[in-house]
Amino acid sequence: MSQEISAAADLELPLTTFKVRVLLVDDQLLVVEAVRRMLADEPDIEFHFVTAPSQALDCALRLHPTVILQDLVMPNVDGFDLIRTYRGMDKLRHVPIIVLSAKEEPKLKALGFAVGANDYLVKLPDRLELLARVRYHSGAYISRLQRDEAFRFLRESQKNLADANIELHKLAALDSLTGIANRRLFDETIQREWQRGQRQRRPLSLLMCDVDCFKMYNDTFGHMAGDLCLKKAAAVLTSCLKRTTDLAARYGGEEFAIVLPDTDAAGARKVAEDCLRQLEDLRIENPQSTHKVVTMSIGIATFVPAPDMAEGDMLASADRALYAAKSGGRNRAVSADDSAGQTNTGSGSSRTP
Ligand code: GH3
Ligand code: MG
Ligand code: MG
Repeated sequence: MSQEISAAADLELPLTTFKVRVLLVDDQLLVVEAVRRMLADEPDIEFHFVTAPSQALDCALRLHPTVILQDLVMPNVDGFDLIRTYRGMDKLRHVPIIVLSAKEEPKLKALGFAVGANDYLVKLPDRLELLARVRYHSGAYISRLQRDEAFRFLRESQKNLADANIELHKLAALDSLTGIANRRLFDETIQREWQRGQRQRRPLSLLMCDVDCFKMYNDTFGHMAGDLCLKKAAAVLTSCLKRTTDLAARYGGEEFAIVLPDTDAAGARKVAEDCLRQLEDLRIENPQSTHKVVTMSIGIATFVPAPDMAEGDMLASADRALYAAKSGGRNRAVSADDSAGQTNTGSGSSRTP
């Protein structure tokens, strides 16, 4: 099969078909015809040629041959220069080049190899030898392309796997009902922020939030409505957070926790009050509850993490404050310090005033 290259459209090399694609660059039509005959009737070989050397580079780039048969002496163009040019191009750097020379001359051969040719044949070569060399060089080149493709595929698969792992890791940190952080991420975050607070001697605040009379809500409207209500409560908490380092998490059931790094007691109270008001403002009916609408109670703890304490101390402190908020009438925020007298929180030396 032969084809004048100027007529060929953009041809992509199909890696799976193992087709040998020959590009002959020679200004002599006699040579073209002779080579065409030699390669004819070979079903695995595609033959293309170009007789105008000025078009050789363009043709080679478009055709993507698996081997180039390159004449050395052509009008206005030096074959060695052309080989150097092929070698300077990313797309052609590794395409095998067989020099088709009129002379068997060691100097020419040496120069041909020096500028990047892979083989050297004297015109006109023996048909069997030409076929063998064309197939040998093309086969090596195709193997190289397939290897590169396999590596590319491998790298892509590895990247996809890494992306999937990141996604999985993110999903594993989220609560499936509300979409906010889950208990696991909360535990990791509070531990990390506690350590950071210790190193930087900065205050860390924790809000423990519990929906009021939620059992009544479920009893009145059913569990599905209860789920929806929890989603709304979670959205309220998230919307009240201003800093990217703040974290709202579902602690369990109808209980949520908010971690506020680098936040003092006043800042924590402000966030807590915002949460209370915004939830109440949704006016979600809870007819049997104290306040007739869905509300929550919040326990606030603010600590500058001391070396002899652990984040568990802050959790316990916020929990006690939450208990005080419940006993104080619900729909309110109580700070651990406010509740210290009544709930016996022990030494307050590391708590912020
Ligand atoms: P309090 O004001 O003292 O907090 O009263 P409460 O009714 O909110 O507290 P209690 O612990 O008695 O009841 C909590 C209820 O929350 C009971 C439980 O079925 C419900 N609950 C926990 N998790 C979920 C959930 O994922 N979906 C729904 N719909 N209900 C839940
Ligand atoms: Mg509750
Ligand atoms: Mg509860």
